[in-house]
Amino acid sequence: MDDVRKVVVIGSGPAGLTAALYAARANLRPVMIEGLEAGGQLMMTTAVENFPGFPDGIMGPDLMGAMRSQAERFGADMIRGNVTSVDFSHPPFKIVTDEGEIQARAVIVATGASAKLLGLPAERSLMGHGVSTCATCDGFFFRGKPIAVVGGGDSAMEEATFLTRFASHVTVIHRRDSLRASKIMQDKAFDNPKISFVWDSEVVDVKDPAQGVVSAIDIRNLKTDALSTLPVDGLFLAIGHTPNTSLFSGQLEMDDAGYLITRDGTRTNVPGIFACGDVQDHVYRQAITAAGSGCMSAIDAERFLEHHGH
Ligand code: NAP
Repeated sequence: MDDVRKVVVIGSGPAGLTAALYAARANLRPVMIEGLEAGGQLMMTTAVENFPGFPDGIMGPDLMGAMRSQAERFGADMIRGNVTSVDFSHPPFKIVTDEGEIQARAVIVATGASAKLLGLPAERSLMGHGVSTCATCDGFFFRGKPIAVVGGGDSAMEEATFLTRFASHVTVIHRRDSLRASKIMQDKAFDNPKISFVWDSEVVDVKDPAQGVVSAIDIRNLKTDALSTLPVDGLFLAIGHTPNTSLFSGQLEMDDAGYLITRDGTRTNVPGIFACGDVQDHVYRQAITAAGSGCMSAIDAERFLEHHGH
């Protein structure tokens, strides 16, 4: 693909797919590079009950599949590759994928955010073998087993509550003595007899990497320094997300947490590069707000291209 495309969309969650849909309907023939986690975070959820238009809810992967078909129907090209580097120093912008290089007059960045990890060595080696960042993906494997959830936000409460469908017991481990989660989510978790809380504590080790399974976690009380061991078969991390912006380091302006800074709609500091969805939003982070900002990016890109005679 050696021609210069009008619009390249990087990322394929609700933001990227909505941007591609709008750009396609504006006859810009967008090409979308889907990335390693095609469909984004909603591919790891079950029922989505707050996306307007679905009064009975819709499964996350079904919603993403429908958005993808809609964008394709209007002529968006999908590439199942991953972007390895970009050069946004001057137009046409260069996007290097594992399949080759693409040039673009405008780029819409919709690379989203990924789950944060604790940074323990055993956590990486046991990921997918008892350690998980997605309760809805992996909860099923812990039927009748005790598990732990780390975090004190809405995600942690949501995951802990969901996991009680399978687990014999869920222990929430939180580093403070009060939750960050909304009152309604807290109450739901407090009222659930299968959930208990360990406050002011952090997980300092996961056992047993040598066996390739999770058998227990070591917990340190941050106030007393006391160490304890909790036997569990699963450890679910729900401690927030990191924006996927390392590709753009030194090229696009970011805040201290690494989220892209947008202004005047979805414009980044580089004219012709736009950003939408969770990669630039650490406040709302909803599928519907991501989709809305994807629409804004496509309209911003269309106006930019028109203004520059493309
Ligand atoms: P969050 O609100 O940032 O909460 C992250 C939690 O993890 C916090 O309790 C934090 O502790 C803890 N934490 C962070 N780093 C940690 C570390 N290294 N070790 C131990 N604990 C750590 O993230 P979130 O729960 O994923 O929610 C993100 C956004 O999505 C929020 O705006 C939330 O309201 C929204 N959300 C909404 C729903 C819903 O309404 N259905 C569901 C899920 C998420 P501290 O509290 O001490 O900082």
